[in-house]
Amino acid sequence: MLKRYLLAPGPTPVPPEALLAMAMPIIHHRSPDFLPVLDSAKKGLQWLYQTKNDVLIICSTGTGGMVGSVNNFFSPGDKALVINAGNFGERWTKICKAYNLSVEEIKIDWGYSVKPEEVEKALKKDPSIKGVFVQASETSTGVYHDIKAIAGIVKKYENTILVVDAISALVAHDLRMDEWGIDVLIGGSQKGLMLPPGLAFIGVSEKAWTFAEKSTAPKFYFNFKAERKKLKDNQTNFTSPVTLIIGLNESLKLLQAEGLENAFRRHEKLAHATREAVRALGLEMFTKESPSCSVTAINAPAGIDGQEIYKNLRVKYGITAAGGQGQAKGRIFRIAHLGYAGTFDVITAIAGVEMVLKGMGHPVKLGTGVAVAQELLIV
Ligand SMILES: *Cc1c(COP(=O)(O)O)cnc(C)c1O
Repeated sequence: MLKRYLLAPGPTPVPPEALLAMAMPIIHHRSPDFLPVLDSAKKGLQWLYQTKNDVLIICSTGTGGMVGSVNNFFSPGDKALVINAGNFGERWTKICKAYNLSVEEIKIDWGYSVKPEEVEKALKKDPSIKGVFVQASETSTGVYHDIKAIAGIVKKYENTILVVDAISALVAHDLRMDEWGIDVLIGGSQKGLMLPPGLAFIGVSEKAWTFAEKSTAPKFYFNFKAERKKLKDNQTNFTSPVTLIIGLNESLKLLQAEGLENAFRRHEKLAHATREAVRALGLEMFTKESPSCSVTAINAPAGIDGQEIYKNLRVKYGITAAGGQGQAKGRIFRIAHLGYAGTFDVITAIAGVEMVLKGMGHPVKLGTGVAVAQELLIV
């Protein structure tokens, strides 16, 4: 038997409290049993999103939340400004194009974050841009974009809304939907929220709802106005993923007991320890600036394939981390510290990396990175 450790940037481990709750018999989504369950999830999500706005719950993966945010707030021909700094930025472009939006990209080299001035420049040049699309944490490169600054810019433009894919950032990063003026904020269940895949969450500002009124793009399953109406009665438009929503309440309960600030601080600390430990091993970050608190992207040492590090971690030691995506495939590997993550997840990951590298013939003094992480994580 090989004991397994899940240290990927989604899916992430699910705490036993949520697993147990999800083992209970199914309840009916239109019965009075379920209404308080959804009511509680709805309120918990507003707490997490730091918002008074509606936070819709959709049965889909995170990408469904992205797709719905394109076909519900925009129309064919609308101009979209996409910040493309990695694999998930590229996904925004693909979705917008699939719905016949006219896409302009701010293309960023992988490993770097967008300069908010570039967003300002693009909007000044073309105020008819309807939507700015960005990731909070670009999971493929381990970069965090400055959402606060970008929101401050977009909110000055009456005809433009900001759509943020925060699927891998929520819970790890402070994202103040109302205070900063984020219009659409998208989350997913299998990342910071410590649940199985299957739920997308979409926070929607009043400004964004006015865009929904004008949208002519086709909508049926992802119909946010219909979802909003149902949500008022603690229902979803179609059959609710009752099991996942029961689990969601358990995850939210754990996070509420910890407190939002503490959750952010925990992720920051784990991310910092991971980066410093890896540097102590003589490895370089793939992320050149503004590192995300959810995932650390690391360059494979010269002559070693990043996918082989990922594979050896999994096959030899039972650690499922992540390799590279797109143009970074083979060049990097990634370690997540997201959601149900603590001190010994980092220690495990670093110890595993040391053992894998040594096993692959790379000169490593065992314990070097682990010692650095231990120092930084002593309480
Ligand atoms: C995981 C992730 C998604 C969504 O992926 P799904 O497989 O659809 O859940 C989108 N954006 C980012 C930044 C992600 O990390």
